Amino acid sequence: FDQREGRIWYNGEYVDWKDAKVHVLTHGLHYGSTVFEGVRAYGGEIFKLKEHTERLIASAKALGFDLPYSCEELMEVQKDVLIQNNLTDGYLRPVAWRGAESMGIGAHDCKIHVAVAAWDWPSYFSLEERMKGLHLMIADWRRPDPRTIPCKAKAAGLYMICTLSKHAANDKGFTDAIMLDHEGYVAEATGANVFFIKDGVIHTPRPDSFLDGITRQTVIDLAKRRGIEVQERKILPEEMADMEECFLTGTAAEITPVASISQYTFTPGAVTERLIHDYNDEVTPKAVAAE
Ligand code: PMP
Repeated sequence: FDQREGRIWYNGEYVDWKDAKVHVLTHGLHYGSTVFEGVRAYGGEIFKLKEHTERLIASAKALGFDLPYSCEELMEVQKDVLIQNNLTDGYLRPVAWRGAESMGIGAHDCKIHVAVAAWDWPSYFSLEERMKGLHLMIADWRRPDPRTIPCKAKAAGLYMICTLSKHAANDKGFTDAIMLDHEGYVAEATGANVFFIKDGVIHTPRPDSFLDGITRQTVIDLAKRRGIEVQERKILPEEMADMEECFLTGTAAEITPVASISQYTFTPGAVTERLIHDYNDEVTPKAVAAE
């Protein structure tokens, strides 16, 4: 992936994709002082650009550092990275980390580095294919107690157990895993939030110990606009036995139906399909929609 064509914005300048490197003694690499975003553009417009950029700044703050660029500057940079890479639809990855200017846990002398890359990332499956639903398992690893880590940050360190959980699921033939929280309630997938539907009502875990996804917030908003009741609450794994539909949400995942989580099965149906259509309408720029 590091040998592609393209231009990456790196600390204020553009460098060729393959030259966007870091030093091996980078603090972010050794001690996890890295934050990032996952952002999507549709039809030349970046969806929820301000929300994502504000979250990047907040994630950095949660790890004790300020970015050397303002929100407005970072928003302009992301728009420009799309243009420089001739993309109208794609995925953007802003990332910020403490550098290699000193070595040790204390990082007062480390510079804050920022980069933004962008590439094509289409939705691979047709609606028909997606509606078959993913097969997931319940992970052994749990989301950490919010008192043990800044769990609202989109920080690299929080993904260690996500990769472990995803690999464990893949090894057993599942696409992904659902993680429980430290108290044993349903939390989220390894890189997406989770929703359930029962008797026309949406149930989703309250984001007390994990990322309150921007897609999650968008979907709750879309559901409410449709007059669908949304209950944000603690959900026990056993409750999944009675849920009829299930889907994941995330910038990359968009709305992805789920067919099973371990022994619990679901039938992707009308509510999920309605929200997929509404989400597609929401992310499509008005000018493109009118064409
Ligand atoms: N949880 C985790 C752990 C994630 O990595 C993501 C993807 N950023 C999400 C939830 C969904 O967040 P969003 O909708 O803002 O992309």
